Amino acid sequence: MPDPSPAVLVTDFDGTLTRHDFYQLVIDELLPPGTPNFWSRYVAGKVTHFEALRLTFAAASPGEATLAALADRMGLEPALADEIVALRNHGWQVVVASAGCLWYIRRLLEAAGVSLEVHANPGRIEDGHLAMSLPIDSPFYSPETGIDKSAVVRQSLQSGHPVAFAGDGPPDLAPALLVPPDLRFARGYLAAELTRRNESFRPFDRWSEVSRALCDR
Ligand SMILES: [Mg+2]
Repeated sequence: MPDPSPAVLVTDFDGTLTRHDFYQLVIDELLPPGTPNFWSRYVAGKVTHFEALRLTFAAASPGEATLAALADRMGLEPALADEIVALRNHGWQVVVASAGCLWYIRRLLEAAGVSLEVHANPGRIEDGHLAMSLPIDSPFYSPETGIDKSAVVRQSLQSGHPVAFAGDGPPDLAPALLVPPDLRFARGYLAAELTRRNESFRPFDRWSEVSRALCDR
């Protein structure tokens, strides 16, 4: 059933709704010695954000149980179910826009008993690794990141109701700049980059601080 709440919080997943990024846990704990640093290739502009993640996930084949255990250690916001209810009671619906993978996002949200609209890259376990693919059928498809988060925000803005954005990484910069500063929530890289550009935002550490701020408006 569609969520009738008029205002929309578009939120990143890895590092925003969770404490840790899945790709970073894979790099830190699962990549075999000698695996190329695909993230630095992305930072250098040699591969897309999507390809950096896809290649990283493809390079670690520990099997589904180990990958699932890794996802469980991403540190999903512990009060998420309660916060979603509070937001709905205050007229806010939550939409997840992620350049990461549906495989672990769905897994963590289901375990938390939370049902949200999610836009992310499809993926499944193949030969012991997470095989991520481009969401070519998505209305928000982007060859660069898989999901064009700015397009998700723009669609929400069309309603004329308030739109907030929360994020932490490089793909979050453009969508964050589409919403007003008092509805722009940032941590990590995104907070540093907005500061460098003299753009106002609201810093947060835990995602529940974002939901509290929106409920208290
Ligand atoms: Mg992130």
